[in-house]
Amino acid sequence: SHTFEFTDRMARMPQSGIREIFDAAQAYNDLADLSIGEPDFATPEPVATAVADAIGDGTSGYTQTVGRADLRGAIAEKLANTNDIQADPVTEVMVTPGAMGALFAATQVLADSGDEVLLPDPYWSNYHGHIANTGADLVTVPTSAADDFVPRPEAIAERITDGTVGLILNTPNNPTGAVVPPSTLREIGDLLVEHDVWAILDETYEDLVYDGATHHSLASDDEFFERSITVHSFSKSYAMTGWRIGYATGPEDVIERMRVLQEHTVSCASEPAQVAAMAALDHPGVASRIHDAFASRRELILNRLTDIAGVDPGTPRGAFYVFADVSALTDDTSEFTKQLLSEGVAAVPGSVFGEAGEGFLRFSYANDQTVIRQAMDRFERAVETQ
Ligand code: PLP
Repeated sequence: SHTFEFTDRMARMPQSGIREIFDAAQAYNDLADLSIGEPDFATPEPVATAVADAIGDGTSGYTQTVGRADLRGAIAEKLANTNDIQADPVTEVMVTPGAMGALFAATQVLADSGDEVLLPDPYWSNYHGHIANTGADLVTVPTSAADDFVPRPEAIAERITDGTVGLILNTPNNPTGAVVPPSTLREIGDLLVEHDVWAILDETYEDLVYDGATHHSLASDDEFFERSITVHSFSKSYAMTGWRIGYATGPEDVIERMRVLQEHTVSCASEPAQVAAMAALDHPGVASRIHDAFASRRELILNRLTDIAGVDPGTPRGAFYVFADVSALTDDTSEFTKQLLSEGVAAVPGSVFGEAGEGFLRFSYANDQTVIRQAMDRFERAVETQ
């Protein structure tokens, strides 16, 4: 029989550990599933109507590789008004299939085989795959619950070498819920300038911050705009995961290279999805209603977790995850997760997100309150019998 030899790049590409839990969960009925980070709302009504109308008009073709000009115009306006980022809609904005499309392209454009890319740990596993596909080395920067998982600039500085080309920074953060405060962001930005390092800034969860925390875009400062690619998405703010629509903004020469890559890979984001994105930008009230629903769910899950002995939920200020310290209960969170599945509740072991995640469990509260209550009842029971 023929043995297929993968390329080195593919061999280095990890399987997503989140998928593993998802697959294991399929064997159980009646799971209270807090493992997947997907908003449970349907496509918002004004978006669905706009898309239905557009398809009725025959608007479903190829678009320019970088996306429709009217959408890029609307995005540039949103970037200016919401993020304080001044970007030229013609040369500095590109529409992509989800944040994922933008992050993949940005990584391919910035990193080569043998380069080093810094990534605060714990981290969203897909960055690992993006970096692996370039042949570059992933260099982790540990963060800790004691700092609410906000990366320390000194820890980043310690890991910068002559080979460092970029830093991927995700705020608000999946899996930890950390929101990097503006002063820390600035310090990190200064380091990047000093050492001539690029930043890929993943702001997918920009709208989901709570407890008085505010989201700040590093690229709002011109000096940092010039050495960063900022990535946004409609997936989480507007509950539009399946539409696969997001965008990147950055300096013209980088966006141009990302455009060339997109031309040779996915061509362009789907046009109905681009129409959906325009309708979403026209209805920011939708995002704020979704935010408020998440804020109530966050309060519920934090209250419940705080009451369970041996569990420390910390203070996640953004996204829709709680990264709870369960190290007092178990020294093997993978095993513990399996036990939880048999008790009818799904969470993701923190070790899936890197070494610094060992001892933690990620709970997603992108679920309605009934599911969250049921999950917490079952989790509490499992902890009591642990
Ligand atoms: N970035 C982070 C940190 C995420 O958690 C996700 C989705 O889970 C994405 C990017 C991908 O978002 P999109 O659906 O826009 O590709």
